[in-house]
This record gives sequence, C-alpha cells and structure tokens, in this order.
Amino acid sequence: MRRVYLDHAATTPLAPEVLEEMTPYLTEHYGNASSVHQLGREARVTLEEARERVADCLGAASSEIVFTSGGTEADNLAIKGVIAARAEAGASTGLVTSAAEHEAVLRPAERLAEQGHPVNILEPDAHGIVTPQQVDAAIDDQTALVSLMHANNEIGVCTDISGVAEVCDANDVLLHCDAVQTAGLFDLDVDALGVDLLSLSGHKFYGPKGVGALFVRGGVDLGPLVEGGSQERERRGGTENVPGVVGLAAALEQALDAAEERRPQLVRLQRRLVDGLEDAVPCDYRLNTPVDQVDTAPHVVNVAFPPNGEEPVDGEMLILNLDMEGVLVSAGSACTSGALEPSHVLKALGLDRETASAAVRFSFGTQTTADDIDYALDKLHTTLDRMVGGL
Ligand code: PLP
Repeated sequence: MRRVYLDHAATTPLAPEVLEEMTPYLTEHYGNASSVHQLGREARVTLEEARERVADCLGAASSEIVFTSGGTEADNLAIKGVIAARAEAGASTGLVTSAAEHEAVLRPAERLAEQGHPVNILEPDAHGIVTPQQVDAAIDDQTALVSLMHANNEIGVCTDISGVAEVCDANDVLLHCDAVQTAGLFDLDVDALGVDLLSLSGHKFYGPKGVGALFVRGGVDLGPLVEGGSQERERRGGTENVPGVVGLAAALEQALDAAEERRPQLVRLQRRLVDGLEDAVPCDYRLNTPVDQVDTAPHVVNVAFPPNGEEPVDGEMLILNLDMEGVLVSAGSACTSGALEPSHVLKALGLDRETASAAVRFSFGTQTTADDIDYALDKLHTTLDRMVGGL
C-alpha cells in the first residue's frame, strides 16, 4: 500500500549522504575523543571540525557550541544552566516564557518555579504567538532570561525573535530561542537574530536522532546539567558522540545549502493542503496554522475539527484511520500523542477540549510531492465522511 509520510515535524529520515559521512566514525574511526593515542586524537580533531562546521552555519564561534543529546537536552541546559549560574552568582533568576512552548521548555520552567525562582508563563494570542510588546511588559527587575521558540512544533506559527531580542537587549536580559523546528530551513545567524542561546536537534533536518547542539554566546555563564567528565568545556559531561556530531554538522550544512530552494517548495505544498481542505473536509474545521494571517514555518499545517452536531470527531481515531489508509500524520506534537490530554498548545489558543482533541498536524519534507498532498486530502475526505457521516 502507498505510504505518505506527513510527520516531518516529529522526525525526518536520515539523508543518505549524512549516513555516508557518519559511517567511518561508527566503524574504523571509533576512538574516544578524550584518549591520548592516535585513534583518540583523530576523534578529537573530527569532533572539533564538526563543532566548527555547526558554528559556521550559525555565524557563531566554535567555542560557543555545546553538543547535546538533542533538542530536549539543549533546552534544559539553556534554561536550568543559565538560572543555576545566575543563582550561584547571586544575580536575578527570573524566567519569562510562553504557554505554547515545547515541554522541553515548560517542564524546566515548572521545575524552576517549584524551586522558588520567579517564572512568568505568558499566554499567547489567538494565533499562538507571544509578541515583543508582551515580553517587554512582562520583564521586570527579577528577569534574567526569556525563552521563546522560533516556530511552534504543533501549529507552525513563528515568533518575531529579532523583535523579542531588541526588547531583551534593551532590558539587559538574556534570550534563549528553541529553533528545533526551523534550524536547517532558515538561515539562523545568531547575531542577526540577536539571541544569546539557541537550541537545535539533528533529527529534524535529516540528521541522526539523539544529537543536538546549544549555541551559548561567549560570556554567558552556564552551570552544567550533566556532570561527569570535563567534556564540552565542562558544560556537558560524557563521552562525545563523534559519529552523531559529524552527522549533525553534515545534515545542517546540507539542509542550509538547499534551504533557499526548499522553502518555496514547502510553501507550495502548505498552500495546496490549506486550499484543498475546503473541498476535502465534509464538516466544520478550524485552521490552527493561519497561513494568510501570520508568519508560519512552511512545513506545518494543523487543523482541528470542532464538534458538528452530536458527534465530535475523535482525533486519535482519525489518525489511526488515516494510518490504515497509508497517511502518517500526528496529533499535536509527537511527544504528547498517546497521552489523552489534549495538546497544551491548542488549549493555549483557547480551543475547547473537544476541538483540541480532534486536531491533526500534517508536516512535509524534502520528499513530499503535490501528489502526496492530494492523496492525503482524498483519504482525509473519505475517512471523515465515514466518521462524521458526511455532516
Ligand atoms: N523543541 C521543539 C520545538 C521540538 O519540536 C522538539 C521535538 O519535537 C524538541 C524541542 C525536542 O527535541 P528532541 O526530540 O531532539 O529532544
């Protein structure tokens, strides 16, 4: 049966060229980068080359790149690391973030609040966006760090990070940006963006899973999250994942080389899907990725089906039915699917419980074609017809 993978915001397939670059470091060049013998020295050189490559992609210095086990760890390190260092220095420790962030930001924020640090979780507007003005109003003399994502992983809406950076700069507050959904799709020059910390994750741009990076601007103090050896300039203990970081660097370079070409392709697919929903959906629907009203990441479309008449659409059932038709999509973020609680992001938009529970996220990638979108729309139509009886 035909399979159409429309879940690229959850993860992407490893690019063959990336695997090729990684393979020697999984096989013959297996040294530990901390060993002093030739295999170790060789691994150290490769590790530092990968760091330089990632730094170049972000317009950063290699000393500003900390390799991590992925986006979750990068977000945790940014938030807990900055606040721990500030607390140790006796400085302010307040955090400002938004209710629409990924759990990798929200859980550390909750933890900090439990520990008594001032945490301000802003409510986004009806599109899911927090504005620079809102951030400005929320910053007070206790604020040390603002953490906001570039593009939302569930609904794709973008934050005006440069605008927020201006506000942070004017208030002398640090800015962390979770760019996990946009790294490799946009040119994320850390100086142009004005961020002090930025998270990215390899598996979102055709690199390997389990490897990510945190940009930490020179001079920003960071307490370690994972303690052990003195790797990563004492900011992250543990034997370095040499094949992983080679894959991360190769994938990021490759994605950025192709980004200019890829973005308009993705925008066309996004438009095709949004326009096609009108005909394909035999019931009410709510577009949670308002492509005509705000900036969005080009690879995401989130749509919810409000109860229409007696029978609300069961989102989980819809996804399983689409799966049986070969259309692979997600309910909100992959990290929350499986949980019965409706997505916190959709709830933050003000959606009622039933509508939020019946949301589907389509997300495209390099290999998605216009025909794949048409196929998904067709299957969405027949599936919904069956489920809501053509209401
Ligand atoms: N932040 C965002 C916006 C994400 O979309 C994800 C993954 O879905 C993460 C963080 C976590 O990244 P990882 O899967 O590499 O831990």
